[in-house]
Amino acid sequence: MVKMAIDELIDYGAFRTGSKADELFLNAMKENFEFVYDHSPHYRKICEHANFTARNLNSFEDIYRIPYVFVSCLKMYDFKFLPEEKIKLTLTSSGTGGMKTKTYLDAETLRRILEIAWKIHEEMGVVATDVECNYLLFSYDPHYARDLGTAFSDESNTRFTKIRSKFYAIQWKGEEKGFVFSPEETAKKLVEFASEDVPLRICGFPAHLIITIEELRRLGYSKLQLHPDSMLLTGGGWKTFEDKKIEKPEFRKFVSEFFGISPSRLRDSFGFVEHGIPYLDCEEGNLHIPNYSRVVARKPSDLSILDHGEQGLLHFYTPYHFGYPVLSVLSTDYGVVEGNCSCGRPGSVLRITGRAGRTKWKGCAFKAMETLKEGA
Ligand SMILES: [Zn+2]
Repeated sequence: MVKMAIDELIDYGAFRTGSKADELFLNAMKENFEFVYDHSPHYRKICEHANFTARNLNSFEDIYRIPYVFVSCLKMYDFKFLPEEKIKLTLTSSGTGGMKTKTYLDAETLRRILEIAWKIHEEMGVVATDVECNYLLFSYDPHYARDLGTAFSDESNTRFTKIRSKFYAIQWKGEEKGFVFSPEETAKKLVEFASEDVPLRICGFPAHLIITIEELRRLGYSKLQLHPDSMLLTGGGWKTFEDKKIEKPEFRKFVSEFFGISPSRLRDSFGFVEHGIPYLDCEEGNLHIPNYSRVVARKPSDLSILDHGEQGLLHFYTPYHFGYPVLSVLSTDYGVVEGNCSCGRPGSVLRITGRAGRTKWKGCAFKAMETLKEGA
C-alpha cells in the first residue's frame, strides 16, 4: 500500500522546519484538498466560486490561497459528507447564541489526530509513559460528555503517563442539576493528591484552577506543595470567567509559587474543535506551531497576510482531516505569529491576543452545559 502524504508528514516530526518539512506539508495539503474537494459538495462550491482547483496548488506559497471556510459558517451549517457508518467520533463545541459546531471524524482521521497530539506532547516533554500520576481534570465526566471537544482533549491528556487515579471536577449531578463544579470538593481532593507520593497532573480551564486556589486560601492554605514532577496542562481560555482573568506571566508566577513547582511545568494550550491541532506551551510558556499546521495573521479589512509580529485575524491550515472540510479555516481569533523562542525549538510561535466581536461572546463553558442538557 502506498503511504499517504499525511502519514509521511506526521512521521517526519512535530517541530522540524526547512524545505523538506515544507515539501511534505505541501504534498499533504494537496492530497487533502483533492479529497475534500471531491467529497464535500459545500467546499467544492466555495472553491468553484473562488475559481480554485488542485491545479492551482503548485508551490508552497500556494497553500495560502486555498479557499477558506469561515469558522462562523461551521457553527451555522452542517457540512457533513461522511456516510453514517464511517463516522467514528462526533465532536461538538458550542458558541455564540447556542450555535454549535459538529465535526465528524472517520477512523483514520481520529487515529491521525491522536498521533499528532502524541508527537507534539512528546517533543514538548509532556509524555512520560513510565511515570504514574494522579489526575485532577477540570472537565466534564466523559461518561456523560462523550462528544464535547474539551472533554475529549482533557481525556486525551491522560494518555501520556500511567494513571493512578482520576478525579473529574465537573460532575454530573443528575437531570435536575446537570453538570456542577464544586470548588469545595475539588480543593479537598487536591489536598489529598498533594499528600501522595506520585506527581499530579491538573488539566482544564485555568479559571477553575484559580477558583480552586481561592477555595484553598479560604481554608487557610497560603501554599500547597505538590510533587515537584507535577504538571499543569491548562487550556480553553477564560471564557465566562473574564473577571478572574490573570495575564499569562502573572498566572505562571502565581500558580507555580502556590504549588511549589517550576514554571516550566505549567503548559497552557490553545485549540478549537473546527481545527483540532493542539498548540502547546514550551517550557518558556510559548505556543509553538507544529509542522502539522500553518498559521498566518490576516489584516481584517482586506485579508492580506501580515508580517511576523503584526496582529491580525488568525487563519489556520492543516491537512489531516478527511472527515470534514477544515483544511483552511479563518477564525475569529486575533493573534500574532512570531519567530525564535528561547527554548531552542525551531519554527514560529503563536500569541493569542483576543477575539473579534467579543461583546456578544458568551463562551463555551456554560453554553456547553446547556447544549448537553438539550441533547440529554
Ligand atoms: Zn519555546
